[in-house]
Amino acid sequence: AQDILSVFRQRAATAPEAPFLILPDGAVITYAAALDRSARMAALFRARGVVPGDRIAVQVEKGPDALLTYLGALAAGAVYLPLNTAYTPAEMRFFLADAGATLFVHRPEDEAAMAALCDEVGVGQRLTLGPDGGGTLVAAAAQLAPVDAAGSIAADDLAAILYTSGTTGRSKGAMLTHGNLASNAETLADYWRFTPDDRLLHALPIFHTHGLFVATNITIVAGSAMILLPRFDAAELVRLMPAASVLMGVPTFYTRLLAEPGFTRDVARHMRLFVSGSAPLSAETHKAFNALTGHAILERYGMTETNMNTSNPYDGDRVPGSVGLPLPGVELRITDPASGAILPAGEAGMIEVRGPNVFKGYWQLPDKTAEDLRLNGYFITGDLGVVDARGYVSIVGRAKDLIICGGFNVYPAEIEALLDAVPGVAESAVIGVPHPDLGESVVAVLQRRDPALDEARVLAALDGQLARFKQPRRIVFVPELPRNTMGKVQKKQLRETYRDLFA
Ligand code: ATP
Ligand code: MG
Repeated sequence: AQDILSVFRQRAATAPEAPFLILPDGAVITYAAALDRSARMAALFRARGVVPGDRIAVQVEKGPDALLTYLGALAAGAVYLPLNTAYTPAEMRFFLADAGATLFVHRPEDEAAMAALCDEVGVGQRLTLGPDGGGTLVAAAAQLAPVDAAGSIAADDLAAILYTSGTTGRSKGAMLTHGNLASNAETLADYWRFTPDDRLLHALPIFHTHGLFVATNITIVAGSAMILLPRFDAAELVRLMPAASVLMGVPTFYTRLLAEPGFTRDVARHMRLFVSGSAPLSAETHKAFNALTGHAILERYGMTETNMNTSNPYDGDRVPGSVGLPLPGVELRITDPASGAILPAGEAGMIEVRGPNVFKGYWQLPDKTAEDLRLNGYFITGDLGVVDARGYVSIVGRAKDLIICGGFNVYPAEIEALLDAVPGVAESAVIGVPHPDLGESVVAVLQRRDPALDEARVLAALDGQLARFKQPRRIVFVPELPRNTMGKVQKKQLRETYRDLFA
């Protein structure tokens, strides 16, 4: 299929009564009902002047109608632009202006702030939506006859602009086509063996590629259903897991589930699949989860710009600490970050990917696009990795997090893996901090499980395992590592905090 909307429409025609969304109270929204509700939203968007190609920006709390705005925007032929609910009005000013949004759907309680902001940046149309369907959008849409752009959509048309998480710098708008989304969803639904019987426990945010595209698009392609939770809550996951077959999570879901007393082998017994991504899953967490539940978490690797690139296999070894093999149709190569030359197998370097999943470029950033997207179609991901003899990819860190200590490259992931295995360590982040002699020096920031753990004990545990230049010069302990909503450690922030450690 060339677009998700056509697949969705086909599902609603062939199995109208099949559940699409299941709410925590057990209420069901069928495929037919979801199509109808989203197509009425499309009618409202059109009535408000939206024409194909226009950007519809959305910043609302998660809920069934929030998810349906995605399908509604596609049905209007528009470009969907979801935004992190944590963005402040000042940040929203940038996104709305940068994207040149025509229409903005926001929280009812943000009325005053957003009305002023939209006037200021020239967004002509606004609608509101609350988590339970309150606000102007749903009520007005219900009055209109459904509209459906399916059939007039080309694979190369833009479906969405998704802003990157802003982990390494200012968020960039990734232009994703209908073809990008449909091809990746078809590959993944097949690779992960989704069927109409699957019930995906959905506790991720829906403004990010993981919860929005990976989860929703696979569900539609497979004709399965999502159990839609407003947010992650370990006890609530435990309560609903018996009705589910698959969980997609970020690594913190798994560390929190492991810490939840009610999460037992029995609760997870009938589950078919646990998927992790968006941030590195430590080998320790992988092993602890396996020991408790008997399930090997399937880790995969992707990003806003490309959807998913690699995955551990469904059958076969799911290797802790590895993100698995390139997906069918995705080419992956490792290059020298400086020269771009292809590196011999087994050497660490820049991960580049090519395939139908790779985006069209960064919205209004032609220079950045030219820098990262090669003319031959390879996208320079910014992640450093290594491929083993069996083809398994391991990520050794982001290029921007690479530490150069006394002229030697230090890959944070290697040291983090050793630290995570030290008894008493809960989580670790290794960063480079300016150093007068070495240029940069290695600092380990640790969250401990054992309050008695100290620097000397950690260094003693690492003894003999790392070359001198890789050994952390300082160990600092924090109550919690700074993470964003996707569970990504904010290393930029840590570098800032500790920049004067050796000054
Ligand atoms: P920005 O590009 O704005 O700095 P970001 O890269 O964090 O932010 P996303 O597109 O949300 O924005 O995240 C993609 C990145 O997440 C990948 O490039 C990679 O660094 C990381 N990532 C995703 N999955 C994994 C994984 N399984 N293991 C390690 N890292 C992962
Ligand atoms: Mg990125």
